[in-house]
Amino acid sequence: MAFDLEAVKAYLAAYDGPPVRIMEVCGSHTAAISKLGIPSMLSERIQLISGPGCPVCVTPTAYIDRLIDLSLTEGCAVCTFGDLLRVPGSRDREVRTLNLAKGRGGKVYMLYSPMDILPLAEQHPEWTWYFAAVGFETTTPVYALLLQTLEERGITNVKLVTALKTMPAVIAHLCENGANIDAFLAPGHVSVVTGAQAFRPLAERYRLPFVVSGFQGGELLTAIYGAVRSVGQGRVLNLYPSVVTEQGNCEAQALVSHYFRPCTAVWRGMGEIADSGMMLRPEFSAYEGGSAGLNRDNANPACSCGAVLSGKLRPQDCPLFGKGCNPMNPQGACMVSTEGSCFQYLTNHRDR
Ligand code: SF4
Repeated sequence: MAFDLEAVKAYLAAYDGPPVRIMEVCGSHTAAISKLGIPSMLSERIQLISGPGCPVCVTPTAYIDRLIDLSLTEGCAVCTFGDLLRVPGSRDREVRTLNLAKGRGGKVYMLYSPMDILPLAEQHPEWTWYFAAVGFETTTPVYALLLQTLEERGITNVKLVTALKTMPAVIAHLCENGANIDAFLAPGHVSVVTGAQAFRPLAERYRLPFVVSGFQGGELLTAIYGAVRSVGQGRVLNLYPSVVTEQGNCEAQALVSHYFRPCTAVWRGMGEIADSGMMLRPEFSAYEGGSAGLNRDNANPACSCGAVLSGKLRPQDCPLFGKGCNPMNPQGACMVSTEGSCFQYLTNHRDR
């Protein structure tokens, strides 16, 4: 499908039809849309809303607390991606984040890939190494690959503390709980694994367009154009066909199904959502790091991350936005990650 980009830009700038609310549910889309200034290129009748697409932003406080407790336990070490280090849990101020726990002697390691835990575990077999396994469909195959490697090498001192999430159930939750969305930009990276097919049942059930998009400016503008033109139609438009297929990555899907099964998951500020997470299958419990029951979510009551992620509140309408809450002093998870809605709205002035 070929589009004339100049015509697309002109259409989106001059659009004068009914108001359209389009939600992106991908942290990389949120960051790209904000950095590229795409909202400023659109008619005011087209509103882009950043949804729950940042895996760090949706982890409940009980999960952070569990990692902090492990890091401070004799013989244990916690490995994580960098973004998670500053996400607040609900412990005392001195140890509210993994970073603070590290300052108090907690053993916390920032890694760039789950596979980086392997040499650490082999060099220090006297410790138990926990990986903070957060992420969506995109990242879960890497954890499955890690588990496969642990089995092959007979490594037994690595465990996963999982807070893995999947997209379709949370999108259904949004549709059924007043998010008032007219179209979705389907998550680009997730779609590589799941395939465009994952969004067809949602499109048909809620009569909404789902547009699979890349991350370049032209790709995003074209996807927004496709979404606006398709409002009211239950269809999936794959505008990222060079990377996303209908079926997705079947090998990755099979590997994930071997090690993980669907479960109810807790989303920060949004509560429990059935079938919106993945947990280890019981036969792999030797690698389980105590992920069950981490459903307490005692986030700062002044923080409105749940309403922001649900599309019910714009970040700039949170009373703490840019005042008591900023990237140097985040009060909620959405202000921590560079993929977080509040972080992007503040640092890139996404609100025009
Ligand atoms: Fe939470 Fe800060 Fe965002 Fe407000 S601005 S919703 S306190 S992260």
